[in-house]
Amino acid sequence: MSPVIPIRPEATGCSDVKPLVERGQREVFCGLTGIMWLHRKIQDAFFLVVGSRTCAHLLQSAAGVMIFAEPRFGTAIIDERDLAGLADAQEELDRVVDELLSKRPGIRMLFLVGSCPSEVIKLDLSRAAERLGQRHAPQVRVLNYSGSGIETTFTQGEDACLAALVPALPSTPEAGLLVVGALADVVEDQLAQLLQQMGVGPLAFFPPRRSTDLPAVGPNTRILLAQPYLADTARALGQRGAQCLTAPFPLGVEGTTAWLQAAAEAFGVSTERFEAVTRAPRERGLKAMAAHRPWLQDKRIFFFPDSQLEIPLARCLQRELGMQLCEVGTPYLHRQHMAAELALLPANTRLSEGQDVDRQLTRCLNDAPDLTVCGLGLANPLEAQGLSTKWAIELVFTPIQGYEQAGDLAALFSRPLRRREMLRAAPLIQRAA
Ligand code: SF4
Repeated sequence: MSPVIPIRPEATGCSDVKPLVERGQREVFCGLTGIMWLHRKIQDAFFLVVGSRTCAHLLQSAAGVMIFAEPRFGTAIIDERDLAGLADAQEELDRVVDELLSKRPGIRMLFLVGSCPSEVIKLDLSRAAERLGQRHAPQVRVLNYSGSGIETTFTQGEDACLAALVPALPSTPEAGLLVVGALADVVEDQLAQLLQQMGVGPLAFFPPRRSTDLPAVGPNTRILLAQPYLADTARALGQRGAQCLTAPFPLGVEGTTAWLQAAAEAFGVSTERFEAVTRAPRERGLKAMAAHRPWLQDKRIFFFPDSQLEIPLARCLQRELGMQLCEVGTPYLHRQHMAAELALLPANTRLSEGQDVDRQLTRCLNDAPDLTVCGLGLANPLEAQGLSTKWAIELVFTPIQGYEQAGDLAALFSRPLRRREMLRAAPLIQRAA
C-alpha cells in the first residue's frame, strides 16, 4: 500500500526565496482568452466582448478549435469614436444586447467583457451592465468585467469574471466546502466523487455549470482553490466571510493528495477513511505517471511566465518526474496562495516574477533547456533555435488536475521530447532503409 505523501511542515524549500522581479516587455495573451474555457463551463452564459476587430479576431482564431461547439461568445465592435460619440456607443451596445437576447432566449447570464481599445475604456461598462440588467431582469443577469490586455494576462480573465460573480452569490450560515476555479467537467466529477466518498460537504463548485445554480457563501464556507490564478476571486469570497484552505494545487498525484488532504483535515475525515478512498486512484495515477518518467528524468525545463500554473507544474515535474528546473517564471507571485507550493520546490530554484522578454530569452538560450514552456509567440523562434517547446495555453485547455489525469499531465511534457527523439532518429531510419 502506498502511503499518503506527507507535506512536511518543516519543509521550507523556496518559501523565503526572493524572485527575480521583472517589469519589462511582456509576451502573453490578454484576459479575453479566459472566455475560451469559461463559455464551455457556464453553459447558459454568454460572453459579449465590447471591443475592436482585433478582439474579435483573437476570439475567432483562438477559439477556432471550438468551431463545432455552440458559440456562446461574440464581439460588439465599437469603432473609433470621439467622446461625443459615446452616447451612440451606449445605444449601439443596448441594440446589440437586445438583438442577442431576443435571438438566444436560453441565455441566463450575460457578461459584458471590457477590452483595451481607448474607445472601450471610455465606456462605463458597469453602468451599462446595471442598465441592461434592469431592462432584461429577471430572465437575464448582466455582469461586467475587464479582459483588457492592459489590466490582465491570459488567465486573469477567469479571475476577473469570477470576482464579478461573487456579489451575486447567495449567503449562507451553513458550513460547506467551495472548490473555486473552472475545471473540466470530467475532473470536477472525479474530485467531487472522492470528496463525497470521504464525507466532505456540503460541496459546491464555483463557477457552476449553470448560472441558476450559484453556490451560497458565508463565514462557515471553506474555500479550496483548484486554480492558482484567482487572487481577486479569493479576496472577494474572503470579504463574504469565507476562509481559504492552504494547499498545493491538484496537479500530479502528490499535489492531488495534498489538496484532498487539506479538505479532509478541515472536515474531520479520519486517516483511515482518507486512505481507503484515495488508495486505488492514487496508485493508478502513480502508475500512469511512471510510464513517462524515463523521458523526463533529469531533463532540464525552463518556464516563461504565462498562466500562473508554472510553480505547481514545476513542483510536480521536479518531485514526481525527476525533472530539473532551470527557471520558473510566473506572471504574478501570490505568496499566500503559493505558500504550500513554494515550500516543496528545491531551495535553489531560480524564480522570476513578471517579464522582460528579451532578458528572459537570453537566460533561456544560455540555459539551453531540454524543454521550454512558453507562449505561442515565442515557441516557433525557440524551436528554430533548436529548443523543444510546450505551449503554456495547452496546459490550461487540457484537463490535467486530479489522479486520473496525472498520466495525461506527464504526457504533455514527455511528448515534445519524444517527438524530438523521433525526428533525430528519422534520417538514420531512412538511411538504414
Ligand atoms: Fe488585443 Fe486588448 Fe482586444 Fe486583448 S483586449 S485582443 S489585447 S485589443
